Amino acid sequence: MDDGTKILLRGGTVLTLDDEATVHEATDVLIEGDRIAAIGPALDAPGAEVIDAAGAIVSPGLVDSHIHMWQYPWRGTMQRKWGAPYIEKLYRMRPSYTPQDTYDATVGAAYAMLDLGVTGALDYLHGANQTPAHLDASVDAHVRAGMRVALGYSLTLNADARDDVREPARRARLEDLDRLRVDTRVLDSPTLDLALATVNPTDELMPALIEEFAFARERGLQITIHQNDYGEVAALHRAGLLGPDLVVVHSNPISERELDWMAETGVVMSVTSQSESLSGKTMMPTRKAFRRGVRLAFGVDSAVFTPLNLRTDLKAVFNALTTLDGDDVYRTIRMPVDPELDPATVDFEDVLRAGSAGGAYAIGTGGRQGVVAVGQLADIAVIRPRDPEPALADPAAYLLLGAPPADEVETVLVGGRPRKRDGRLLGIEPEELAELNSRVRRRAIATYEGR
Ligand SMILES: [Zn+2]
Repeated sequence: MDDGTKILLRGGTVLTLDDEATVHEATDVLIEGDRIAAIGPALDAPGAEVIDAAGAIVSPGLVDSHIHMWQYPWRGTMQRKWGAPYIEKLYRMRPSYTPQDTYDATVGAAYAMLDLGVTGALDYLHGANQTPAHLDASVDAHVRAGMRVALGYSLTLNADARDDVREPARRARLEDLDRLRVDTRVLDSPTLDLALATVNPTDELMPALIEEFAFARERGLQITIHQNDYGEVAALHRAGLLGPDLVVVHSNPISERELDWMAETGVVMSVTSQSESLSGKTMMPTRKAFRRGVRLAFGVDSAVFTPLNLRTDLKAVFNALTTLDGDDVYRTIRMPVDPELDPATVDFEDVLRAGSAGGAYAIGTGGRQGVVAVGQLADIAVIRPRDPEPALADPAAYLLLGAPPADEVETVLVGGRPRKRDGRLLGIEPEELAELNSRVRRRAIATYEGR
């Protein structure tokens, strides 16, 4: 898209997140259409809309690689109750949603994320997707909010669904995806793509899974899968299905060999650190993956378990990895730490980059997004710290450890299009957003409580 629109972000501290971790002080970023066109001091940009970024950090927007946006109204209800109760509630929630609920939930979640400077997401729609009308509502919501989204339409049904229901439903959903691929709302959107969330790779479902991978790859759709059982990546490897268009989520039960295969084939490993730790998992697989060069991305998973804030998730990742590093040193009695003997697994920039450029690989814009550099998609967050001096002195440390809240996120651009400006979300009035959020939450909570 190049509609001729020019925006000049004037005089910011630019955290590029490039490989050299370059930071430019008092520097302009010129955006033309949906791309970054120039970076430099005092750029001349006639006709550009100027946004003052002096005293603020210009950074790549984050991309959430695994989120169930339809569950947003249910937020906070199960932060202490993972596991079986969740599955039971999930099964109850799925059929209760109307298309309007799906729309409200998705709009609410998308704006909550944009508000924080999260500009992209792989929205894993594994509920509220019973009918074409539900999927249409989700598409409408994403078109309205204008995040960069890969909408992962899920083919899984409740585990207790009867076999004679399951297969026709799966087939109908594949047909529905084909209907939407040529729908003008999707074709005309510069930021919305469809993706496929496949069934799980059990022996029984392997033929279906192979068919679904072929379906997605013939159409150039990203593929995503929950990986919660041992041996699933090995099964995908045996079937020759691993590839850079695949996003494997969680990957807690994972072997060293499987991680090697993921690194070799460019699979994206999506880790949802806070929901992993709440369910008793550690960041050890993430640490191994970083060290082996697996392509990593992060996500919040579900507002049901954790606050919907990718920034705090990234901070949790960094702290967990650093703790594991320290534990290694402690066990081998090599104190104080010698960085030559015990290099840290990650630096601030590594985690932030996984949160932006890594997430881009999850949604199909890998290599084209997530770094502030000429030619990249202009998916950008301008953050104005309340206490600017220490924050601007080390912007990567501030964005990671400070996890700035939404009220410090001043401007958010998606493909050069402002979605937040001067602290105000665009495309929706605060009253409508509040009304829509409270309406759908009342309905969702009522279902959750069995009323
Ligand atoms: Zn999930």
